[in-house]
Parts: sequence; structure tokens; C-alpha cells
Amino acid sequence: MKIHEYQAKELLRRYGVKTPRGIACFSVEDATKAAEELGGSLWVVKAQIHAGGRGKGGGVKVATSLGEVRDWSSQILGMQLKTHQTGPEGQKVRRLLIEEGADISKELYVGIVVDRATQCVCVMASSEGGMDIEEVAAKTPERIHKVFVDPAAGLTDAEATGLARNIGIPETSLAEGASILQALYQSFVETDASLAEINPLILTADGNVVALDAKINFDESALFRHPEIVELRDFDEEDPLEIEASKHDLSYISLDGNIGCLVNGAGLAMATMDTIKLFGGEPANFLDVGGGATQEKVTEAFKLMLRNPNVKAILVNIFGGIMRCDIIAAGVVEAAKQVQLRVPLVVRMKGTNEDVGRQILSDSGLPIISADSMADAAQRVVAATKGTN
Ligand code: GDP
Ligand code: MN
Repeated sequence: MKIHEYQAKELLRRYGVKTPRGIACFSVEDATKAAEELGGSLWVVKAQIHAGGRGKGGGVKVATSLGEVRDWSSQILGMQLKTHQTGPEGQKVRRLLIEEGADISKELYVGIVVDRATQCVCVMASSEGGMDIEEVAAKTPERIHKVFVDPAAGLTDAEATGLARNIGIPETSLAEGASILQALYQSFVETDASLAEINPLILTADGNVVALDAKINFDESALFRHPEIVELRDFDEEDPLEIEASKHDLSYISLDGNIGCLVNGAGLAMATMDTIKLFGGEPANFLDVGGGATQEKVTEAFKLMLRNPNVKAILVNIFGGIMRCDIIAAGVVEAAKQVQLRVPLVVRMKGTNEDVGRQILSDSGLPIISADSMADAAQRVVAATKGTN
């Protein structure tokens, strides 16, 4: 789960990280008032969306008068902000963060992720912070310093100080730099985050170390432990189909392709997507209906997939273990009745009650394409999207 920059900054402040003073706003009126309230003569108007790269996309603007705050706010609020993380259609800006302007002398980078290869929390830092960190990572990876943290010890003073020194924080600010790294680590662990990033972390002319941006993602499997974080969820920023799916307790992820996949079990779902790609197709979604799905749940899953206008064909791939094939078949038939099925449907069912399931499908009179193996199913569904079945 993602949160907005202003929410991440609020969280980090509780751990002792310095940030500029700022106020989140929903209207141009409030934005201008916020700037007045903050005082000073330099402000930053920042689009709040769940994607990075806002600066380059025109979603972060510095204002030198209240009039400019108003102008930038009305330009940014409501805009369809396109960044390398939003996809081509962009994301509508519904919230702004108005901050006091910062006096930047150097932009640094610090971030924390779970590293799968070492199965450790990895703290990364670089002197090359700012808007091109992806390029630094790709072209000059040696400029990104890493510490793999021993969970029993946490990020030690020596490690934090070493990282701070490596990224060029001057001796007089080292203690502050190290404590920010430790605070970031602490917040990452305590909130069950999957990513915590400050880019840029800046050095100011007077030697302060300040978080100018903040991004935190949380592990959804651990959200039950953090009701205060769940409250920060912004449904406007999430895929409506994924929200709908979560209401029905379905694991659904929207993808860019045109083949809808309904599968039971996450492993089989992954393998199904791989097989589709192997035969030249592109999945439109990941959808795991789970092991003990009811007929109603299957119906909901089917309807959900069909709401995606890009779907040109559907592949149902079921292994009937705990799940019975007849339940899936009944769900598919029910869904096809409820929503007008306008795309080819390929079904492959193996396991418990597959005969009964097949009978239900053929009795339904629906134009279903049956497949035997996974390869057969994938080839048929790919062909169906190309109209060559
Ligand atoms: P992102 O592009 O989505 O990562 O948004 P950021 O919050 O990182 O802002 C992008 C860039 O805007 C930063 O790298 C800074 O260079 C600049 N920026 C942000 N806040 C200020 C500020 O207070 N003063 C100045 N001069 N620049 C700022
Ligand atoms: Mn940033």
C-alpha cells in the first residue's frame, strides 16, 4: 500500500526526521491560505499523487509570491500528471502539499528496501540524489552505497555514520545524517514497510540535513497490525478494479495486456501468465480466486475481468484440488449469463470433478473453447485474441 508524500513526511517527523514545514490542501483557496500561514517568501507547490517523477512531469513548482502560489496551484490541481511511474494516461492531481521553500546546497539520496537475494533489509545511500537516481543506479551503480542490515543489531551507529560519510555529508553534520538514516530504518521496521525513500535528502547552506521528499510503501500482508496506516489509504489513487477485487477477497492485479486470466492459486496464476507470454500473448491481469472459492466469488471474479475494456479473450485455468472444477464451471456460466460475454473464452480444467465441470460448460450452450494442456490453452487463447481460432 502506498501513501502520499505529506503523509510519509508526517510519519518520518514522528521518528525525528527534519522536513520543511508544510500543509496539505485540496483547493487553490486553501493552498494560498496555507502559503500565507507558512510565511516567508519562497514556497513549493507539490502535486500529491502515488507516483514519483513529479518534478520532471511539472508537478513540483517553486513560487516566489503568493500570486505564484495561486497560479501554480490552479495549474497543478486537477491536472492529469504524467510521469514515468503513472502510465501514459497520467494520474489526476486531487491534493497539493504547500511547503516553505528550502535552501538546497546538495541533493542526496537514501532509501531502504527488502533485498530478496540476501533476504536482508538493505539501506542505500548516494551523493547523487535528486531527479535522476534511476540513471545513477543504471550507469554508475558504484555511486550507490549499500548496507545489508543484521536484523538483530539493527542499523548500527558505525554503519549509519559510515554511509553518511560515504555520501559526502560534512563532519559537522555527520551525527544528524546518521540519525536520519537510523530513524528511516526504525520507521521502516516498525511500520512493516516494503520501501522507504528520501530523495532528495538535502544539505542546507546552514548545515542541516532535511528530507525534501518522502516515499513509503507498506507490506499489505502486515496492514492488519497497523490500523493507523490503513486510515491513510487513498482510494482515488488506486486501480478501481483492484479495489473492487479486494472487497471480494480476490487477489487481482491489473496488467497491460489483453488476455484475462482466471486461475486458482498464485503459483498456477504466475505459470499461466508465463505460458501466455511464451506463446506471444500478454496477460490483462493476474487473478487468483483462491483455493476455497464459492460460485459467487467466481462470478464476481469473472465480472471483474470483463470490466477491463482491453480484454479480448479469457483463459480460465483451474487445477481442481481443494477447489472443485464444477464450482468454477457453474461460476463461469452464471457470470456469462449476468454479463454479456462478448469475448472468446478458453477453459482448461483438471482435477476434482473435471467431468462434471465440462458437462456444465457444454450444457450451458456458451461458445467455450476447451483446452487440454496448459500449452494448448495458452496457444488457443493467444490465437483467439488474433481472431485466428
Ligand atoms: P519527485 O520528482 O516526485 O521525486 O518530487 P520531489 O519532491 O523529489 O521534487 C523534485 C525536485 O524539486 C527536487 O529534486 C528538488 O530539486 C526540487 N524541489 C523540491 N522542493 C524544493 C524546494 O523547497 N526548493 C527548491 N529550490 N527546489 C525544490
Ligand atoms: Mn523525489
